[in-house]
Amino acid sequence: MSSGFEIAFLGTGGGRFATITQKRRTAGIRIIGEGLNLHLDPGPGALVHSINEGLDPQKLNAVFVSHCHPDHYTDAEVLIEAMTRGTTKKQMPEQRIEALPNMNFQIGDVNVLVTEARHTDPDAVGFRFETPEFGDFAYTSDTEYFEGISKYYEGVRLLLLCVMRPAGKPWKGHMTTNDAIKIVEATHPEKTVLTHLGMQMIFKGPNQEAKLIEEKTGVPTVAATDGMLINFEETIRVQTGRKTEQGLNKYF
Ligand SMILES: [Zn+2]
Ligand SMILES: [Zn+2]
Repeated sequence: MSSGFEIAFLGTGGGRFATITQKRRTAGIRIIGEGLNLHLDPGPGALVHSINEGLDPQKLNAVFVSHCHPDHYTDAEVLIEAMTRGTTKKQMPEQRIEALPNMNFQIGDVNVLVTEARHTDPDAVGFRFETPEFGDFAYTSDTEYFEGISKYYEGVRLLLLCVMRPAGKPWKGHMTTNDAIKIVEATHPEKTVLTHLGMQMIFKGPNQEAKLIEEKTGVPTVAATDGMLINFEETIRVQTGRKTEQGLNKYF
């Protein structure tokens, strides 16, 4: 019986203005569980905030980059260097995978399904993590709403949506609260988390947008905050606040 997965939101900001002002951090998401220590979308600050949160980047066994925009990849290189122990232990990562929609690969016991995203970077993808014991969670990455997007996320227990814009403020290649409602209505996960929040979203109030989604869909929805931690096991528990060591320490 494994102890499940911990999903640490090292950063919850998205888009160029949130990035250059660091109104929200842009450090991406760390996912840790049995056989898995993964950094997802390491934007600017990923290295520094990993270390500040007590998450040693030398313990990583995977770095995922959903697409080639600075808020998703700038710290990837240095995290890969940490993962390979400054290339002293191993010269190169053991495996390099070019993620294409609908492809599957395995990390530890987790099957990763690459999901389709439609974004200004045509190579953008999302990821669905299929765990043997606790079901699935998924991350959409930057995408606009499109016919058929929901089928990639059917049956997930936890859905992490990159909702850059608030309701009524559409922007090509990105998701608004209205789009999030459509996906949550179609997939009905146990819990939804909004992250990768853009400047307009931050000023509008992400909690209010999360509440709107929850009211429309009946699905418990939270807006992620920097340092937030989710325990994904039989239950899905959200811990906010800075100190996450208690949960994370068992991996070190
Ligand atoms: Zn982005
Ligand atoms: Zn992008």
